[in-house]
Amino acid sequence: MIDTHAHLTMNQFKKDLDAVIDRARKENVSRIITVGTDPDDCDRAVELANRHKDIHAVVGIHPHDSDGVTDEALAKIEAHAQNPKVVAIGEIGLDFYRDYAARDAQRRAFREQIRLARRVKLPVVIHSRDTSLEVLQILEKESADEVGGVLHCMPADPDLARRAEEMGFYLSIAGVVTYDKGARDGIIRSASPDRLLLETDCPYLTPVPLRGKRNEPAYVRYTLQRLAEILTMFPKEVDELTTRNAVRAFGLDRT
Ligand SMILES: [Zn+2]
Repeated sequence: MIDTHAHLTMNQFKKDLDAVIDRARKENVSRIITVGTDPDDCDRAVELANRHKDIHAVVGIHPHDSDGVTDEALAKIEAHAQNPKVVAIGEIGLDFYRDYAARDAQRRAFREQIRLARRVKLPVVIHSRDTSLEVLQILEKESADEVGGVLHCMPADPDLARRAEEMGFYLSIAGVVTYDKGARDGIIRSASPDRLLLETDCPYLTPVPLRGKRNEPAYVRYTLQRLAEILTMFPKEVDELTTRNAVRAFGLDRT
């Protein structure tokens, strides 16, 4: 399995990160993609990826931190993008659910980072909450299909999923499917199987039966099991399928 979206550099892992990584390896998680959310966090994510063969980094400024998208911050992200262990720009997008940053700042940060991704020719990892329509409009206007990428923690919005897929994006399935009462089942079944990915978004979104505890990459297997149920496939088949997809989505065979 490949956990395509983790936040290993967050404080929640400060005390036992080595043990967390060991447990993931023991559970057959062959690679972890860790996502930096602000410039300092990106430094830590890249450093961690440099230290471990099976960890890769995604760099960018999270919509919540959009106010921090200065020229200096963007230059830092662009410099990191030259590192072969950096496989995408993200997570970027809009979050009108939490609204931690002003909406105009979010829009600008999103556009600037799509442009950056096109300059460095890396895919983008998209965060979309309560704002599917506008996310799609910006992706289209900024020609994000040129680099493609991943719709992270796929929202339960069939139109967003379909349009994203048409633009060459992958749909990443998080632990939410273990407790969303089937809200995403139909979208997943009608998606093209070679577009599906697995992720934890740890330390958040812990799957059932461990909901309430801190999430970690080893727990991606619960999401795999649920995805197999939805697709009426064997977990082993879904493991092979999503692993192949993740390698293709992030060009992992190059690093
Ligand atoms: Zn995330």
